[in-house]
Amino acid sequence: MSNGDKYDVYDKELYRKLFHHANDAIFVNEIGDIPLQSKCIEVNEVACKLLGYTRDELLRMTPEMVIDIGNETETNQIIENLLRDHRNTYEAVMFSKEGERIPCEISSHIIEVKEKRVVLSVARNVTHRKKIEEEQRKAREAAELASRAKSEFLSNMSHEIRTPLNGISGMIDLTLMDDLSERQRENLELAKSCAKTLVKIINDVLDFSKIEAGKMVLENTEFDFYKVLDKVIGLHSVQASQKGIVVEYSVDPMFPQMLIGDAGKLQQVMNNLIGNAVKFTETGKIVVKISKCFVDEGVMQFMFSVTDSGIGISDEEMKYLFQSFSQVDGSITRKYGGTGLGLVISKRLVEMMGGEIRVESHKGKGSTFSFTVPCGFNLNPENQKETNSVLTVPKFKDSLNIVLAEDEKVNQIMMKKLLEKAGGKVDVVQNGNELLSILNKKIYDIILMDIQMPEMGGIEAAKTIRSMDKSEISQIPIVALTAYAFEQDKEKIFDVGMNACIPKPINIPVFFETIEKLAYSKKQKTDDFPI
Ligand code: ADP
Repeated sequence: MSNGDKYDVYDKELYRKLFHHANDAIFVNEIGDIPLQSKCIEVNEVACKLLGYTRDELLRMTPEMVIDIGNETETNQIIENLLRDHRNTYEAVMFSKEGERIPCEISSHIIEVKEKRVVLSVARNVTHRKKIEEEQRKAREAAELASRAKSEFLSNMSHEIRTPLNGISGMIDLTLMDDLSERQRENLELAKSCAKTLVKIINDVLDFSKIEAGKMVLENTEFDFYKVLDKVIGLHSVQASQKGIVVEYSVDPMFPQMLIGDAGKLQQVMNNLIGNAVKFTETGKIVVKISKCFVDEGVMQFMFSVTDSGIGISDEEMKYLFQSFSQVDGSITRKYGGTGLGLVISKRLVEMMGGEIRVESHKGKGSTFSFTVPCGFNLNPENQKETNSVLTVPKFKDSLNIVLAEDEKVNQIMMKKLLEKAGGKVDVVQNGNELLSILNKKIYDIILMDIQMPEMGGIEAAKTIRSMDKSEISQIPIVALTAYAFEQDKEKIFDVGMNACIPKPINIPVFFETIEKLAYSKKQKTDDFPI
């Protein structure tokens, strides 16, 4: 039968050519009782070339004379698999007539030819691939060795620097025990805290090698966040004021005091980012913002940002940020000192804590570095330190019935605790609808109303309340709590008859003063003219 005009599939010449001009060496062997000693029936030209034998020589040889599959167990296993599955691919070494060892990948098949079973083996010379693999392995080993050497160097250097630093700290401690003027004491305290920070930086270097080696461990303990913040801001404020710039900071007043996480790592990241902001700013100011957004029960998203009015970073320079030992200005004559490790460590630490770090910057205008990390918190009052100045709460003259309409969980809990600390009785509802329904059941002295709420927002709820027939409801003072402190929103708020507007983050003294003023004036009116 012919296949078109050109080829006859039974044409022996065609098969002879295909066989001899294949890419790989081909061996056809009988299957004897001992496969490695079985007779060779045919080989192709490539096989002869590969091993340096003539066809006649190879036909007189057995497989064991030209191949080493491995030790006895490996060899038996390969033969057993071949006999069982009728095919097997394995690696072996073939020997040439010259005694050269040639690594090969061999595919053996058991096939039937003229009712006789034979083994067809196709051997590919993988010398080149093996060489590349070997080179890669050596390069990997060399890189690992270099990395280990670098880590060791870093850890040794950190140790060497830490020792004298501990000496400095110790001497400062000793001097602090002497009789000192207030000023001297302050200076020494500051020097001590700088030494401590330096020790921390050295520890960072150690940390870096630990992170590199995947050996960094995170702590998860309860800590007073305001204490950490005080330390961080205090430290950098001094440095900043020496340069004639201010460090302003704002914390969402509803921010929990007790956090659960790794205080040291959090402090380390804040320190680095604020430190950089101070370092790269000559005029203007630095603004640090700390806030949160709610994620789940007991876990919030800690949000930090620091904005400076410094030198800024161009798009081109941005490529070098967050890379080990990399500084935007790498020249030896560069103006600013530093290790170029801070941002890398910060990024890795933030990522280890499950968060993200970002940067926005314009050359010559300044930068904003920010990060978020999920963080546990504890609102249990037993754990709230009384010394906390941020959350000092006044007491209401009289007990007040307060309803808080607020959808954000952390704000709900924090405000409730605050108001209860002041002696208020607080009910919390999630939105305008729930507020309207609770107002029909209970009389309140004041309503605290978030503006943005799902289902029914604050504006609509207030409008409905003011249009109600029952004056004991329609006349309850309403304080709007709003994220927008813009004039048009304020107008809307007063248009629908709310009595005051407190922008978030709230200012605690103003917040309590407003509540008291409104609630008591209403109380007085109610007492004078009972409805
Ligand atoms: P360094 O110890 O050199 O400050 P970092 O990793 O903290 O190391 O910062 C790397 C580089 O990123 C800095 O050398 C600087 O070029 C750039 N950089 C970091 N923060 C700022 C910033 N706030 N403003 C401008 N450039 C910055």
